[in-house]
Amino acid sequence: MPPLELDLIRQRYNYACGYCGVSEVSAGGVLTVDHYRPLSAGGGDELDNLVYACVRCNQYKHSYWPTADDERLGFRVLHPLLDSLSTHYRLVVASGRFDPLSKIGHFHVTLLRLNRPQLVQHRLKEQMRKLLEGKLTMLEQQVREMEQTISAQERYISALEARLGLGPVSPTRR
Ligand SMILES: [Zn+2]
Repeated sequence: MPPLELDLIRQRYNYACGYCGVSEVSAGGVLTVDHYRPLSAGGGDELDNLVYACVRCNQYKHSYWPTADDERLGFRVLHPLLDSLSTHYRLVVASGRFDPLSKIGHFHVTLLRLNRPQLVQHRLKEQMRKLLEGKLTMLEQQVREMEQTISAQERYISALEARLGLGPVSPTRR
């Protein structure tokens, strides 16, 4: 695949697997490109048929394409950009697992093993990281506010000292 086209796909998928969401940074490298409709099932190289996918998801999806029976039962793999994923499954924050909301969602999550233990653990860790980042931001804001209060109090004390003639203001005071 020409580098420019690969870059376009990476950008289109925000540098993360379209199926499981693992980022290049978490995976430690560039991911693979999956043919949504496999070449063996008549798929082509058009942009919409190219899904940025991690090695595992690509492996689990392999050359799956709905058989006539699957089609009759409504089974297929969801397209990360062309299907509304939230209609078919949702993330349960407490468990880090994808909870299917439809028959297709159940099929999709099962085929791609989107609740594989390492992935669930990764989601839980990411959630924890985001939570801690939020808390850190809050604490930094509180420290800034306290610093402002302290410097306002210092200015007030200096002014009082000057008014009461208590000598030169100490150099640390602003
Ligand atoms: Zn993946």
